[in-house]
Amino acid sequence: MFTAATPPHDLGLTWRNRFADLGESFFSPTPPTPLPAPHWVGFQHTLAQDLGLPPDTHLNDAALHAFTGNLPLAGSQPLASVYSGHQFGHWAGQLGDGRAIWLGEIDTPAGPMELQLKGAGLTPYSRMGDGRAVLRSSIREFLASEAMHALGIPTTRALCVTGSPAPVRRETVETAAVVTRVAPSFIRFGHFEHFAANNQVDELRQLADFVIDHHYPECRQREGNPYAHLLEAVSARTAELVAQWQAVGFCHGVMNTDNMSILGLTIDYGPFQFMDGFNPAHICNHSDSGGRYAYHRQPNIAYWNLFCLGQALLPLMDDQQQALDALEPYKTLFPEALQRRMGAKLGLSSVQPGDAELTEAFMQLLARERVDFTIAFRRLADSVSDSLTPVRDLFIDRDAFDAWAARWQDRLQAQGGADREAMRRANPRIVLRNHLGELAIRRSREGDHSEVDRLLQALLAPFDDRPGEDDLAALPPDWASQIEISCSS
Ligand code: AMP
Ligand code: MG
Repeated sequence: MFTAATPPHDLGLTWRNRFADLGESFFSPTPPTPLPAPHWVGFQHTLAQDLGLPPDTHLNDAALHAFTGNLPLAGSQPLASVYSGHQFGHWAGQLGDGRAIWLGEIDTPAGPMELQLKGAGLTPYSRMGDGRAVLRSSIREFLASEAMHALGIPTTRALCVTGSPAPVRRETVETAAVVTRVAPSFIRFGHFEHFAANNQVDELRQLADFVIDHHYPECRQREGNPYAHLLEAVSARTAELVAQWQAVGFCHGVMNTDNMSILGLTIDYGPFQFMDGFNPAHICNHSDSGGRYAYHRQPNIAYWNLFCLGQALLPLMDDQQQALDALEPYKTLFPEALQRRMGAKLGLSSVQPGDAELTEAFMQLLARERVDFTIAFRRLADSVSDSLTPVRDLFIDRDAFDAWAARWQDRLQAQGGADREAMRRANPRIVLRNHLGELAIRRSREGDHSEVDRLLQALLAPFDDRPGEDDLAALPPDWASQIEISCSS
């Protein structure tokens, strides 16, 4: 058993906690609160390897306790950071890491990476919360993070999930879990909003300088105001990110400004969903009754959030116009990025006039009959060297599909055909559908974590046809549409 007297565990990691050097206006030193009788739920071996962890980490009892928050890691400097933010369109004031504890930054072959334990206990920012995360949402975050990464979509990563029998009260009593998250930085738009709202201009500048120096050095190399360049660079990354979300049918669910990464990463997986049947107005968050974060609103919400970031950075800029100018490119970068991605999904090798209309016509066909997003595109990819029948069979209105398919095939012919392999790499076979997560969660609750791992392995190779995974690539069962995911996590 580990006690307070147990010396810190050493995984051979080299720590250098540059965020902690910012000073205590930015965080409160906060140790994790231990959980009883932890066990492994999921472990991402490839990520562990990329981070330079010892190969036997998943067999190491001390590592299990360290990643549950029960045993300090030598060299780490646990803290909870303070941020604020806009939630559902309203200023929410101070929020902060209410249950995520920042361990520090490690040197890895992939560059410096920060580690966080999500669900590791109360912090000064826990407000009404208990500082915990439940097994259900932790498995979802673990799988989604790694699935997104494998799809090539920028995201925070997840090294492992550990579980504990400790009860956690949500709508029902569930059990606790901890996700070890990994990212070059966990700084959010909300960190900037926090210091702007409190008129802490020195801290605001310190934070912006920190982000520029460590993550956007090019902003200082260009002529002009570096903070305006930062805003423009974040906007460009966010445009790319949201275009990638749209192109895989991903709904984030809670695009509050405190859930927006300054690095343009997908962050804070809560009630997210990879859509099954395509509905542009789909709302994945049961708590979002107004549909503020519906799928088709995501691009505009991202801009709204960038506007808040711009507002926060204003004290560092010459005038308001400078901020508006920095935001302006989003309005062209997003649609361009989206069309590039959608064009790739349709096998188009370059963007031509009329492509946006061709894409939109297909999306309307999908929407009209709520055809499965992932399967429709995947079958379209397979059709270029085979028959159109499997994709055609997804539609009730075959005439409408045939008319569209004729247009599409003319377009492909004009470019000399389509590259099936390239199309398959733009159209995943397997995404983390809600019901797949749900099935793995049910098994895990009964103590069998093998489905979490099977699903993880499939999600790590989302473009491949692998044997034994047909059930993961199939149309969802009827009960999938009844799953309700709320903010409760
Ligand atoms: P979210 O909607 O999950 O991004 O969380 C919004 C805010 O609530 C953040 O400041 C979180 O740290 C905090 N929060 C969410 N759940 C909990 C919890 N169970 N305990 C403490 N804080 C929480
Ligand atoms: Mg959050």
